[in-house]
Amino acid sequence: MSESITPGDDDVLIVVDIQNDFCPGGALAVPRGDEVVPIVNRLAEAFHTVVLTQDWHPHGHLSFASSHLGKQPFDTVTAFYGSQVLWPDHCVQQTPGAEFHRGLRIAHASLVLRKGMNRLIDSYSAFYENDRKTPTGLVGYLRERGVSRVFLAGLAFDFCVRYSAEDARREDFTVIVVEDACRGIDVGGSVAATQSSFAALNIRCISAQKIASGAPA
Ligand SMILES: [Zn+2]
Repeated sequence: MSESITPGDDDVLIVVDIQNDFCPGGALAVPRGDEVVPIVNRLAEAFHTVVLTQDWHPHGHLSFASSHLGKQPFDTVTAFYGSQVLWPDHCVQQTPGAEFHRGLRIAHASLVLRKGMNRLIDSYSAFYENDRKTPTGLVGYLRERGVSRVFLAGLAFDFCVRYSAEDARREDFTVIVVEDACRGIDVGGSVAATQSSFAALNIRCISAQKIASGAPA
């Protein structure tokens, strides 16, 4: 457990969906989601390469309960790629809810990756849409930059962070989730399911204090 980690050139921090709609007061608030903002700001200072993801849906997106007659948020439907949880309308393109939390201060982030833009496919993961086949291009971006180890933080632990971590493992990156820099929604035991999936896939969970603070050399 022991010694601290000093991120280097082959490490990336992916900051997942720290947007107004996922924070208290937002359309799909993750409980205490805003608490991660100062933790993530501090964490990001230790990384050369930081990627921000932004959930960015068109109106009438398939993942919205309002797009399905008679359905409520947290019901599920069968999409062409399998089961899909329905959510309140959230992170609609060009709305205040889709903007990053105003406290997020990561000026040196090199990429803002938008996802969930295809009206017919949801995209929890930063790497693949929910059909688990359509790539976002992030694997190529990271490989070209020589990244081999992926650190993840953000919202929500048991959905977008989980899917991103699992896909990163599938792509053969070493994956570390900074657990106290995440918050979960916990629908139907999804936090516990995430923890056992991470253990099975050799995805490590650590706390932010394990990362050596300050600007990288
Ligand atoms: Zn979404």
